This record gives sequence, structure tokens and C-alpha cells, in this order.
Amino acid sequence: MTPNATDLSCAICGAPATGTVEPARKTLARGLDPADPSYSVTVILPDIALCAAHTHDLRDGGLLVGWCDDPRCRMYGEIGEPSPCGDPYTKVGARNRA
Ligand SMILES: [Zn+2]
Ligand SMILES: [Zn+2]
Repeated sequence: MTPNATDLSCAICGAPATGTVEPARKTLARGLDPADPSYSVTVILPDIALCAAHTHDLRDGGLLVGWCDDPRCRMYGEIGEPSPCGDPYTKVGARNRA
């Protein structure tokens, strides 16, 4: 039995992921829907794909995984590190909207 993780790469280093880890919070409030202000948008976050070494680091507490919700990213990375859009990854669940 091989887990279907062949198309996943580690969120931190890009190596082939050996598995996924549930994020500390599965939902992210994105605020109001611009098309319908009475409706607030909540996003369900995917599990975090990690390689064996980074799974160990996360369990160990030495690695903090954050999320960038910029439309160009919407991906996990190490908290405080810059994401591809230039903003740092932030703690999941932290409200960080300007
Ligand atoms: Zn890794
Ligand atoms: Zn980003």
C-alpha cells in the first residue's frame, strides 16, 4: 500500500512529501464575500505535505508552518519566511488583513 502522495512536495523544502499533517486550524476566515457582504468566506485549508525530515521537525516543535493567503500563493511555508508573493507566511488563524 503506497499513499497517494506522489504529486505532493514538501511545503518547506520542495522534496517529495512522505505524508501530510493536519494544520493546527483547518479553517481560515477570509472576510466578507465582495459579491455578497452578508456572506462571510471561510476557507478549508488542505493538509500540510511534508518530507520525513520536516515532519520530524514539526512534531519536534522546531518548525512552525504558516500559510500565505495571497491569491498567487495560497500555500504553506515556514512562518516568517518570505512566500513567492513577497509576504511572509503567517500563523494559521491569525487575522492579518490590512
Ligand atoms: Zn522538507
Ligand atoms: Zn505569498
